[in-house]
Amino acid sequence: MPFREADGLRFFQFESLIDPNLDHAILTRQGGVSPAPWTSLNYGRTVGDDHGRVAENIERGLAATGRSPDQAFEVWQVHSASVVRADKPSSAGARPKADAIISDRPEVTLLMRFADCVPILIYDPRRRAVGAAHAGWLGTVRGVAAELVRSLQKEYGCRAEDLVAGIGPSIGPDHYPVGEDVVTEFEAALGDQAIDHLHSIDGAVHLDLWSANEAQLRSAGVRSIEVSKICTACNLQDWYSHRGEKGNTGRFGAHLAIRN
Ligand SMILES: [Zn+2]
Repeated sequence: MPFREADGLRFFQFESLIDPNLDHAILTRQGGVSPAPWTSLNYGRTVGDDHGRVAENIERGLAATGRSPDQAFEVWQVHSASVVRADKPSSAGARPKADAIISDRPEVTLLMRFADCVPILIYDPRRRAVGAAHAGWLGTVRGVAAELVRSLQKEYGCRAEDLVAGIGPSIGPDHYPVGEDVVTEFEAALGDQAIDHLHSIDGAVHLDLWSANEAQLRSAGVRSIEVSKICTACNLQDWYSHRGEKGNTGRFGAHLAIRN
């Protein structure tokens, strides 16, 4: 089973990323201290929840995978394709604007937040480097997954064929009808390939962010890609869903770190 439980928390792990040299988890919303509408393991500081509760949630989440808050490296996620290299944990309050983080330092835990956008976690067992990305439709159009792979190659000498990638819980194509503006941008960015990820369901166009990001990673040369195929909006007991809860919700966390 891809789900594990520890200290009242429930978290998802990619089978292909279970490795003695790696700590990783995508935390469900269970086991935290925040009340409705953030029930309960909310990692989001920008959704109206109390910052003290968020800090407690993050500490609990990190502890479940053997990590501590002073090791975390966080970014201010802005739906870009910007990648930041984390050589040490981020100090309190200093969060660069970026949607992907890379590191080769065991003292750093990559930490990102989600509520429908796609979590992408990557590990290079040869170079012992890690990367994480946040890809909504705009980040996908802008190519954040491909930029993540390129940055791992450039900064750490990774080879794409060595990378092990996971595409985590996020809004599924069943729950993701999109407007004409999104379709237009997708077609402009992906050309002929856009049609592979746009599906007509009950007269509406639905976007498949899972297949779009998998294709982007494959084009970048990644061979090992595990797709969780868990839809956040279908599983509100486990996940926050911006769409499924009409914007009134929290953010779940994802961590990735090289073990010492
Ligand atoms: Zn769904």
